[in-house]
Amino acid sequence: RSAFRELVVGVDAKVPLHNGNWVTSINMDNAATTPPFVQALQEIIQFAPMYSSVHRGAGYKSRLSTELYENSRLAIANFVKADLNHDTVIFLRNTTEAINKLSYRLCDDTKKSVILSTCMEHHSNDLPWRNKHHVDYIEIDNDGRLCLDDLVNKLKKYKRSVKLVAVTGASNVTGYVNPIYEIAEIAHQYNAKIFVDGAQLVPHAQIDMKPFNSPRHIDYLAFSGHKMYAPFGTGVLIGPKETFMNGAPEYTGGGTVRTVTHTNVVWDDPPNKEEAGTPNLMGVLSLQAAVKTLSMIGMQNISNYELGLWKNTIDNFKNIPGLQLYSDTNPDKPRIGIISFNLEGIHHTLVADILAGETGIAVRSGCFCAQPYVRELLKISEKKESCIREHRTHSRPLSRPLNRPGMIRVSFGLYNDFDEISVLVQALHHIVNNKERYIQKYMAI
Ligand code: PMP
Repeated sequence: RSAFRELVVGVDAKVPLHNGNWVTSINMDNAATTPPFVQALQEIIQFAPMYSSVHRGAGYKSRLSTELYENSRLAIANFVKADLNHDTVIFLRNTTEAINKLSYRLCDDTKKSVILSTCMEHHSNDLPWRNKHHVDYIEIDNDGRLCLDDLVNKLKKYKRSVKLVAVTGASNVTGYVNPIYEIAEIAHQYNAKIFVDGAQLVPHAQIDMKPFNSPRHIDYLAFSGHKMYAPFGTGVLIGPKETFMNGAPEYTGGGTVRTVTHTNVVWDDPPNKEEAGTPNLMGVLSLQAAVKTLSMIGMQNISNYELGLWKNTIDNFKNIPGLQLYSDTNPDKPRIGIISFNLEGIHHTLVADILAGETGIAVRSGCFCAQPYVRELLKISEKKESCIREHRTHSRPLSRPLNRPGMIRVSFGLYNDFDEISVLVQALHHIVNNKERYIQKYMAI
């Protein structure tokens, strides 16, 4: 069993199967949301008697709340090695909000500046850039990994007008980890900055933003508490104070200003200026507690353990007939513990439903908010002539509209077990061997 299991809430919770029996749940959907650490919830309970409004009161509790809230910025900055001489840590709701804020801040009304996103992004690191900038996409290679040659080509093509390279630290579809420090170095050579979407990378590997004067410095980083064992509702954006100094913030109101008259406003400095309204103290404290637990375990230990889970799964998947993987399987290439696949002749939605209904295993199916990337991976796979024509292989008319492209995704957290992988592998073998029966049963639901 995973030594980290007891650190997490709810791993032994029971869930109902299709037949009405209850079994211990197996959560393999950590890329969507991780369960919270016990310590992250404890932090809320322990501090609750002292909780009061941040930045807004003279009472002891309010001062203490403010002090702990501000100290949390330091803890978060240290966790990702941000350079606080230069950077600011802004607390928001999630990664999506952070990217929208950054897009607003870097907005150029002439739409002349270019944002280079990539073909492997989550919609949250694609759509927010589109309405405020000219966006182009760095291509992927035949394995679905990012082409650094194309990054250089595009930086050259747009001369020096690329403002930002917005790239994910790790893909939520393939688990590929991008060479962010190399990308930073290349981008800086062309006077561009780099934004790393850390939603998937930060919970699973050490990230080091590096000092501001390093050529490999990460200029902007965002991540979400709910994917790193803290409760929902807290996200982080880190970037140079300078970016947020001038002009009005996106959201205005209480907490954003120094002085207000009916005709004039003097904005506060960041981060306050970017955190309109009363802050989410308990969310931030529990995020800080989650980060403390992650640091205590050690990010390298987490990464090693999860890559062990990945390798074991891949080794087992190779023996499942008709299982199509959508990523390379070279253990020496950088990745986190995410695997996306299909089973020949059975739609991904059904496979996910069967896993939940027959064994209590939670996975995700579909396009994982990364439709362009998933479509491209399916196309690449088809070109390699080993594709799954899942919806076309159903011989009878479908009673459910199962014609949408997609995949099944397994994503590991530090509390998952090798035992759980055995249950998954057995379940998949069973689905493959009893495909028609399962299709009939689950199509009717
Ligand atoms: N980027 C990536 C790579 C993600 O996986 C996700 C969440 N699936 C997001 C951004 C968005 O995160 P959130 O929903 O917490 O804003």
